Amino acid sequence: MKEYTCFHCEHQVTSVHPVTFYEQENENDQLLCDHCYSEWLESLKG
Ligand SMILES: [Zn+2]
Repeated sequence: MKEYTCFHCEHQVTSVHPVTFYEQENENDQLLCDHCYSEWLESLKG
């Protein structure tokens, strides 16, 4: 099974979510694990 490295916590996981961070004018595509992805979604809500 393929493993990925979470961009945020750097854990090896088999389930990731692609997200795009915007840093100034650059789009930065990264992968987040389930946990970090849910926290990222929460941070978007404010
Ligand atoms: Zn993570």
